[in-house]
Amino acid sequence: MLDVKQLSICFSNYSFGLKKQEVCAIRSLDLSVKAGEVVAVVGQSGAGKSLLAHALLGILPRNAQVTGSLSFKGMELTPKEMVRLRGREIALVPQSVAYLNPLLHVGVQISRAAELSGIAAKSSWSSTIKALKRYKLDEEVAKHFPFQLSGGMARRILTATATIGGASLILADEPTNGLDEDTAKETLEHLRQLADCGKAVLLITHDIEAALQVADKVTVFCGGVTVEEAFASDFYGENKLRHPYSQALWAALPTNNFVNDLPEKIHAANNGGCPFSATCCERGDLCGEVLPELREFNGGRVRCQNA
Ligand code: SF4
Repeated sequence: MLDVKQLSICFSNYSFGLKKQEVCAIRSLDLSVKAGEVVAVVGQSGAGKSLLAHALLGILPRNAQVTGSLSFKGMELTPKEMVRLRGREIALVPQSVAYLNPLLHVGVQISRAAELSGIAAKSSWSSTIKALKRYKLDEEVAKHFPFQLSGGMARRILTATATIGGASLILADEPTNGLDEDTAKETLEHLRQLADCGKAVLLITHDIEAALQVADKVTVFCGGVTVEEAFASDFYGENKLRHPYSQALWAALPTNNFVNDLPEKIHAANNGGCPFSATCCERGDLCGEVLPELREFNGGRVRCQNA
C-alpha cells in the first residue's frame, strides 16, 4: 500500500547574518505498510516521526525540501496526488483532540469531513450517524460540543472523522498521548480493527509498549534515520532486535531492565555518520562518518556497521 524509500526532509532558513542554512530533520527514512497491517513507527521525541505524516499528506511548511521516493498503491505519490488523496484515500488521526473545532457540534465536523472526502451532501448526515454507531457512540453525541466529550469519546470522534471517507491508509499520530490506560487500549483496538478490515495503518508513537499491543511490524526511527525494521514479536524474543538503538530503547522501559543508556534527545546527524554513534557501546572507527545502508538481516532490516 505505502512504500517510503530514502525519504529526507530538510528545512532552509536564514541565520542573523542572513546566511542561508539547511537543517535536515529526516535524513533517510524507509518503511512499508501493506493492507491489513499495523506498522508502528517508534523512536524518541524529536526523531522526526510526525513530519513523516505531514510529508505523506503534503502539508509540510513551504521551506521544506523533500527528496526520496514515496509510493501509494504502486503509484508515485506526487504533491498533486497528495492533495487528491488527502482525506479520501489517506487520512490522518491527529495527535491532539485540540484538532476538533471547539465551537462546532462534533456531528457537523464529521459530516463536513464526509463531504470533503467525496460523500454527497444529502448522505453525509446519515453517514455521520453510521460512523458514530461504528465507534459505539450514541446518535445524540452528534449534537455535543467537543468540551462535552470524555477523552475516549473525543478520540473516537477523531477516528470517525478520519475514517468516514473510507480511506485505505490511516496515519495515526501519537493517538494514545495523554489518555488513561483504558482509553488508550480502546483507541489502539480501533486501529487494529481498521487493519483487520483491510486498511493499512501507520501508527506513529513514542510508546513502544502500546504499539506492540496491536502492531504487526515496527520501524525504529533514530535521529531522522530508519535504523531497524522488525516484527513486533522480535521485541519479546531473546536477542532478536538487530540494532543497538532498538535494544537500548527496549531496555530503557520500566517493565524491562530500566537501563537508561539513551540521551534525552538524539538530533539528526547531519554529518553523515550513524545518529547513535555518540552513545553506542559497539561504535567502530567508521561509525561517526559513514551512514550504513539499511540491510536485510535475520528476517528484518537493520542499518548498522556491525550487521
Ligand atoms: S553503526 Fe556503529 S554506532 Fe551505529 S549502531 Fe552500529 S555499531 Fe553503533
